[in-house]
Amino acid sequence: MKWFTATTWCWNCNIQAYGKRVSYMSYFYILLAFLHSRRYNCFMNKEARQISRLGIMGGTFDPIHFGHLVTAEGARYEYKLDKVIFIPTGQPPHKQNIKRTEPWSRFEMTRLAVATNPFFEISPLEIERPGPSYTIDTVQEIARLFPGTQIYFITGADAVSEILIWKKVEQILSICRFIAATRPGYKLGETWKKIDELPQDLKKNILCMEVPALAISSTGIRQRVREGRPIKYLLPESVEEYITSNNIYQD
Ligand code: NAP
Repeated sequence: MKWFTATTWCWNCNIQAYGKRVSYMSYFYILLAFLHSRRYNCFMNKEARQISRLGIMGGTFDPIHFGHLVTAEGARYEYKLDKVIFIPTGQPPHKQNIKRTEPWSRFEMTRLAVATNPFFEISPLEIERPGPSYTIDTVQEIARLFPGTQIYFITGADAVSEILIWKKVEQILSICRFIAATRPGYKLGETWKKIDELPQDLKKNILCMEVPALAISSTGIRQRVREGRPIKYLLPESVEEYITSNNIYQD
């Protein structure tokens, strides 16, 4: 009986001790997870703090070509950007019914193209986000990740000239500046004139940059592939190889 009582007492103690150990352990793990997340946040904040000017290169990139790369590098130099993040569109809101290359193939071509520039990065932000890729959602997300950073959204002037019909345009222009890359001899269209009617504090956030290399176009490259004409020297070799080995733009 004594033995039974002693054993039960010891057993209870063990359970209690074990129970305590378990709960201490879980507190320990929670603390570790907390510290880890703080460390990660600190790292993110530290990285974000080091970036005072950030470029976002937005486009369908179907495919990416030297015109885009020269534009991004030119904007980086001209506007003293610390880095440029390429964000290929997932579902372009204005091209819902137009056949486009599958998003992850466009992403892969862009990844290959930016790999050699230490100032360039790529993000699948828009591809992973379900639904149409609205720029407002993208710039809000980037502004959240990089608080206090001046954001420059770089894209083609044709796209920017349509900006007045984009979702929440005034909010976009209050969060970031636009760099509208133009081809040589580009005529500012009728829609562009409407931008002049925007309040001065928003209009001043649309900047223009002429890029001779933008004589190259994705449309032109797709057409060349369809016609069996060469695309060498219009885009990086790695992208050309990807197009050839995956039979993209053949039909
Ligand atoms: P697009 O209408 O296909 O392109 C218009 C012109 O700009 C084309 O000549 C194109 O040349 C050129 N271009 C596109 N991106 C460029 C870049 N980053 N640098 C230099 N030139 C560029 O436009 P898109 O590519 O589909 O869209 C451009 C950006 O605007 C994307 O980020 C898109 O999400 C955004 N957007 C947002 C909304 C919205 O929020 N409602 C609506 C429309 C567009 P190539 O064909 O050679 O690329």
